[in-house]
Amino acid sequence: TDPAVIRNFCIIAHIDHGKSTLADRMLQLTGVVEQRQMRAQYLDRMDIERERGITIKSQAVRMPWGAEDGTPHILNMIDTPGHVDFTYEVSRSLAAGEGCILLVDAAQGIEAQTLANLYLAMENDLTIIPVLNKIDLPAAQPEKFAAELAHLVGCEPEEVLKVSAKTGEGVGELLDEVVRRIPPPVGVADAPARAMIFDSVYDAYRGVVTYVKVVDGHLGKRERIQMMSTGATHELLEIGTNSPEMTPSDGLAAGEVGYLITGVKDVRQSKVGDTVTQQKGGATEALGGYKDPKPMVFSGLYPLDGSDYPDLRDALDKLQLNDAALVYEPETSAALGFGFRVGFLGLLHLEVIRERLEREFGLDLIATAPNVVYQVTMEDGSEHTVTNPSEYPTGKIAEVREPVVRATLIAPSEFIGAIMELCQTRRGALQGMDYLSEERVELRYMLPLAEIVFDFFDALKSKTRGYASLDYETTGEQAADLVKVDILLHGDKVDAFSAIVHKDKAYAYGVKMASKLRELIPRQQFEVPIQAAIGSRVIARETVRAIRKDVLSKCYGGDISRKRKLLEKQKEGKKRMKVVGRVEVPQEAFIAALSSD
Ligand code: GDP
Ligand code: MG
Repeated sequence: TDPAVIRNFCIIAHIDHGKSTLADRMLQLTGVVEQRQMRAQYLDRMDIERERGITIKSQAVRMPWGAEDGTPHILNMIDTPGHVDFTYEVSRSLAAGEGCILLVDAAQGIEAQTLANLYLAMENDLTIIPVLNKIDLPAAQPEKFAAELAHLVGCEPEEVLKVSAKTGEGVGELLDEVVRRIPPPVGVADAPARAMIFDSVYDAYRGVVTYVKVVDGHLGKRERIQMMSTGATHELLEIGTNSPEMTPSDGLAAGEVGYLITGVKDVRQSKVGDTVTQQKGGATEALGGYKDPKPMVFSGLYPLDGSDYPDLRDALDKLQLNDAALVYEPETSAALGFGFRVGFLGLLHLEVIRERLEREFGLDLIATAPNVVYQVTMEDGSEHTVTNPSEYPTGKIAEVREPVVRATLIAPSEFIGAIMELCQTRRGALQGMDYLSEERVELRYMLPLAEIVFDFFDALKSKTRGYASLDYETTGEQAADLVKVDILLHGDKVDAFSAIVHKDKAYAYGVKMASKLRELIPRQQFEVPIQAAIGSRVIARETVRAIRKDVLSKCYGGDISRKRKLLEKQKEGKKRMKVVGRVEVPQEAFIAALSSD
């Protein structure tokens, strides 16, 4: 194919602004998906994606489009994940194209992810086509938001296109504009091959399917290829394009977007951002931008039933085949038994994985409260990376550092006060503030990741009646006054409840956990003190009073079989108890205490 007729682009938008619906309409309009096969959000294949209405894995689809003058063009549409946890994948998808459609809901206007995605597009030097969607809505304000959007991207309001992904209005014109405004790919056709991996997906039947954009040269069927970051070589068993199902071909040339299959079984052997070249006479310099995904949030996952441990391991192994960002290692907890410490890109990633483990693999799990990664420097100069609060080093600590993020918040200006107050209580530092229009404002904050991964978004939504939007990117770490709070039952530490918190919040955490546990732990035959402590200093205390529970006292007479039954019943009940030191704690108490309120 002549690169001059190829257009590679993606659609970027804030969540719910209609990206998937627009993609559907394009598939329909170009005839790639027939009417009768059409179902909503065709490209969102995973069940959880469809249910939650989010796009996790990006996909690329090739669509034919005859431009106005009749020349047949090839449009490669690259769908991108929209959530902050998957920024790196968004950025790789963007790098695979020469342009993008910046889609904004005409009833909502610019939101935080609109901006975050726009900045990524600008960093990748993409041609940006600003588009307002949902103009069919009675609440749409196309003129007002066209001005806002034009101001943002630096164009005239007339250059902002107006469409309805729902009715299809304006979508044909939009495709014409894609051909007109977005430049064709430039690459060196007769150079050694260099193809950028922007996605890789595990398929149970075919192994890993790797999505690439060929930047230079040509990759052909049966050729031996090499992954430039690792030097690993593979045979190209199949190569082709998606339109939208996989269609094999003889090869992909410079400028083309398509897929490869090599028979590898694990997405970590086909890493997003890596460069593919030929084994013989291949390129010597990789395309830029490769980065290992870095887990930001950790949580302990434990099977409710200890005998499910091998199944949990198998399930994690399987999920990892399709998720290079998922990391885990075995962990034991005195309270919870055998499990895994699992690293995630963010909280949504955690929820998705947990839901898949429960739903697709039928596992019942306890997850410990998620935590970020801390760097601890001791006075003797040694360094520790702490991914589990119960492994916080003891001894003289010189400094603790925690990850921080640069957050962008957008809201109507009446909520400035509420947002500032919230960010203040979350140890935020205001970096700047800009008015997008008279009544909408953008606030920029530096915030500790630990303060925003848990309930920040919910708090923000409730303080702004749902009007504020948030996006953030991690930007390194900073020293903070952090301490580890332990929870002790009858003098024994319960590892699952240890937390690393800011000094000012340690007392509140201790009091909350101690009183929660007092409610949850049944009376034992002796008094059980519950303590929260920093090191050896107790900061909160509660007590569960003793009780002498004798199940046999209610049995009169000598009915032996009834006695035995009762004893067995009591034993049954004990099986679901975890023993911490001398104290028996029902499984439910752990779950309840670990669930956020
Ligand atoms: P995404 O999160 O950006 O992929 O957004 P979706 O495509 O999932 O759309 C979010 C919601 O907006 C869905 O309920 C769509 O049906 C709806 N929607 C998308 N485009 C339009 C449109 O042009 N008009 C109207 N009225 N609703 C739309
Ligand atoms: Mg979507």
